[in-house]
Amino acid sequence: MEHTSDIVAEGKLIGETSYPQRADKNQELEVSAEVFTDKGFVTCTAKIDFFDAIRGVVYETKKSAAKELAHVAQVQFYLYLLRKNNITANYGQIEYPKLRQTERVELSEEGEAKIEKSILQTTEIISLESCPPTLPKSKCSKCSYFDFCWSTEE
Ligand code: SF4
Repeated sequence: MEHTSDIVAEGKLIGETSYPQRADKNQELEVSAEVFTDKGFVTCTAKIDFFDAIRGVVYETKKSAAKELAHVAQVQFYLYLLRKNNITANYGQIEYPKLRQTERVELSEEGEAKIEKSILQTTEIISLESCPPTLPKSKCSKCSYFDFCWSTEE
């Protein structure tokens, strides 16, 4: 997915250059968990760019100049997967170098239940015979599936 892999790489580069000391203290981590849903077990995987295992803090840097709920959901998902692996994950921190702001992300038990509901909804969508209708293209620019949904467009 070239479209989003460039965006992801750019975001990681901004994280490394905006916070050069970060790479020394924190580690990149790929984490997976088996989540039980109404449709059986589902494997969820994510790659976390910066995780401080000593303090249990997930860091995520965004190149965007606008805060989005999706950024919070992404970090909450990381916290969820870490906790599923019995790894201490106290909170997350989203950094917006362009805004010169940070946002702390918590994950409550209620938040964990919401994530599990989203995972179930995702498995239901995956098991559909045909794809759901596309959203308006203006909402798709950062989506990982952009190339699939819009491959027939000029
Ligand atoms: S590109 Fe992403 S957001 Fe847009 S319709 Fe496809 S899946 Fe939905």
